[in-house]
Amino acid sequence: MTFHLHTYGCQMNVRDSEAVEALLSAAGHVRVENESDAELVIVNSCTVRDMAERKAVGKCGNLIAAKQGRGRVSESGGRVKIVGLMGCAVKRMGADVFKSLPNLDFAVGPRRFGAIPRLVERCLAGEKRILELPDDDEVPTGMDAHGVTSFQSFVTVLLGCDNRCSYCIVPDVRGHEYSRPAREVVAEVRALAARGVKEVCLLGQSVLRYGKRNPAWLPDDPPSPGGYTEAFPRLLEALSAIDGLKRIRFTSAHPKGCTDELVRAYAEFPKVCRHLHLPVQSGSDRVLREMGRHYTRAEYLAAVAKLRAFDPEFAVTTDVIVGYPGETEADFEETRSLMEEAGFDNAFVFKYSPRPGTRSAALPDDVPTEEKERRDQVLLADQQVRGQARNERLVGTVREVLVEGPSLRNAARWSGRDGGNRIVVFEPKGPLVAGEPVNVRIVEAHPQILVGEVV
Ligand code: SAH
Ligand code: SF4
Repeated sequence: MTFHLHTYGCQMNVRDSEAVEALLSAAGHVRVENESDAELVIVNSCTVRDMAERKAVGKCGNLIAAKQGRGRVSESGGRVKIVGLMGCAVKRMGADVFKSLPNLDFAVGPRRFGAIPRLVERCLAGEKRILELPDDDEVPTGMDAHGVTSFQSFVTVLLGCDNRCSYCIVPDVRGHEYSRPAREVVAEVRALAARGVKEVCLLGQSVLRYGKRNPAWLPDDPPSPGGYTEAFPRLLEALSAIDGLKRIRFTSAHPKGCTDELVRAYAEFPKVCRHLHLPVQSGSDRVLREMGRHYTRAEYLAAVAKLRAFDPEFAVTTDVIVGYPGETEADFEETRSLMEEAGFDNAFVFKYSPRPGTRSAALPDDVPTEEKERRDQVLLADQQVRGQARNERLVGTVREVLVEGPSLRNAARWSGRDGGNRIVVFEPKGPLVAGEPVNVRIVEAHPQILVGEVV
């Protein structure tokens, strides 16, 4: 049958959706670009904040209404026959998912997405309200399934999380940390490169913990030619050797993982992009301690300084939470000043949202909504100014850009990204191929993009 996936949330979800698309295609179903052409629609949900979960559940509700001939038929073109929900919200809600969505055909948690083709068969045979919840140590099947629709691919290397930050529901829904065997990851990336993939982004909640809870390198794997002893740098070394692959990115990171070996890997392997997404969450030591982040402000800044000492243009991006329980004006000012000291190239700001079952959910959510909004706006305004200043330093330099395609705003221009993940917009000179590198001299800086000329 024709199918469409609607994805909310992080890159992990984008990756899981892509795997499901590949598995459904392999089972003979046909992916359609427009949801209104689909007979099977699956919503991949996020639950990291309350609003994210509501959106996914609301979307599913609309689809079910359309399936039953109620509501806006435009949502489904009247064709939809099966509606499924997958991902993090399913694991959080458990059987309660059917209280919110009584006519849902199936619900499947993360790490169990490999079951979806089978669930679709069961629904076609008349079953309804099927619930599949993975356990915390489950290793998904179908993790290496790829559709390959672009020159970029995500590759999951680390599942789950054991950090248990006070505010975070991810460990409850994505289970325990598990590192995929390195040989499996290398084989997957090699196969992707053979199919024309130029850039991979390795995914994990705390990806630099790769190989820490369970060994990723097995005793019979060959030793590291460069003498790396830590699992993640060693993985970068192995992936760098793959022909055809041009760039290696990874996300997200914890400052504890910024070891000397990691910096050596950045220096030795030009395919490894000089960009790190290093969520800080807060600049106040008191708040960091309460959150259970396991670093101080000074330790965090030392990690950033280490990367920038190695390369002053090293791009560092971050996530910040505003309005954590008990966050005072002084705590907030600490976050503001940390962001300035770190000189972030980009930042995502989130308003604190209590999640059921997390440690901080027991604390009063005492920063008023308007105050969270104000702090959010202040940090975003700061970041605009900082982003502009960071980008202005690059005017006059030549950046290697991997071409992505016509720019969204102006189709006469093309856009791509440099190694620091900065968006670079330029006038094409002659034919361009997505995934090919071009050298672009930067002529203009903006807070979020660079404008340049092909050299
Ligand atoms: N594993 C990543 C983060 C995954 S969640 C890491 O630790 O680096 C993505 C982001 O969502 C987090 O960095 C955090 O800023 C935000 N977030 C997580 N839980 C939240 C909550 N309860 N309220 C608001 N933002 C939250
Ligand atoms: Fe959540 Fe912390 Fe794990 Fe990130 S490291 S997923 S914020 S518990």
